[in-house]
Amino acid sequence: GQIASARGLVKTYGKGEAAVRALDGVDVDFARGELTAIMGPSGSGKSTLMHCMAGLDTPTAGTVMVDGEDVGRMSQRRLTRLRRTRLGFVFQAFNLIPTLTAEENITLPLDIARGTLDRAWFDTVVDAVGLRDRLDHRPTELSGGQQQRVACARALVSRPAVVFADEPTGNLDSRSSGEVLGFLRRSVDELGQSVVMVTHDPTAASYAHRVLFLADGRLVGELEQPTTETVL
Ligand code: ADP
Ligand code: ADP
Repeated sequence: GQIASARGLVKTYGKGEAAVRALDGVDVDFARGELTAIMGPSGSGKSTLMHCMAGLDTPTAGTVMVDGEDVGRMSQRRLTRLRRTRLGFVFQAFNLIPTLTAEENITLPLDIARGTLDRAWFDTVVDAVGLRDRLDHRPTELSGGQQQRVACARALVSRPAVVFADEPTGNLDSRSSGEVLGFLRRSVDELGQSVVMVTHDPTAASYAHRVLFLADGRLVGELEQPTTETVL
């Protein structure tokens, strides 16, 4: 089954002469239990697609369904609730709170949404991401790769329906990237999560189950079981 989908998705920025059609009629399905990568050149609409899927941006036309909900028809209030309780986010710039420990950063979404921590799930995620001995550290005491793994654990702590990762390895060296990507892949294969990742890095995309290619706001191709060679 699918965890998220778009039909006839159009997003235009600006008006009249200056209007930019960032998405030009995208039909797409994201499968449950898969790591899907969205690739394409700079300006092709990758971030816009992810933001529309995640309810961070309002489509100009078309339908977006996430976890059975019509995101376009939800009130801001319910959308915020959906994002906080059923979606997870990982960004290029880790976006951790510097004054909080790794553990406090990971559990922060639950504090904000007034959710209850599932301790067994927290332990599973922390062990899978390899952060057991770093939980008391603050972000400045962690490497970039470790900080991004904290951000990944934070994205997973509420056991979301889908995790959206926007260039998660954009600020990392290749070794740290491998650790983050390996974890995102294992979060799907071993923990049963669903992940949508935007990247322009073929190595990152090779970790995905499926790669979608965007160009000029349109879906122009798709690849199953990619490898570094086939993605290039
Ligand atoms: P990508 O993530 O593939 O680099 P984006 O989705 O960021 O592409 O951008 C797609 C197009 O939409 C680009 O032409 C970009 O300049 C334009 N765009 C994106 N966000 C905005 C915005 N907030 N205002 C105006 N134009 C935007
Ligand atoms: P492990 O395979 O020991 O669980 P890894 O973190 O190295 O740990 O990899 C997790 C998953 O990511 C692997 O099972 C594989 O599917 C995928 N993977 C690992 N390395 C690569 C790579 N270089 N390119 C593409 N996918 C990879």
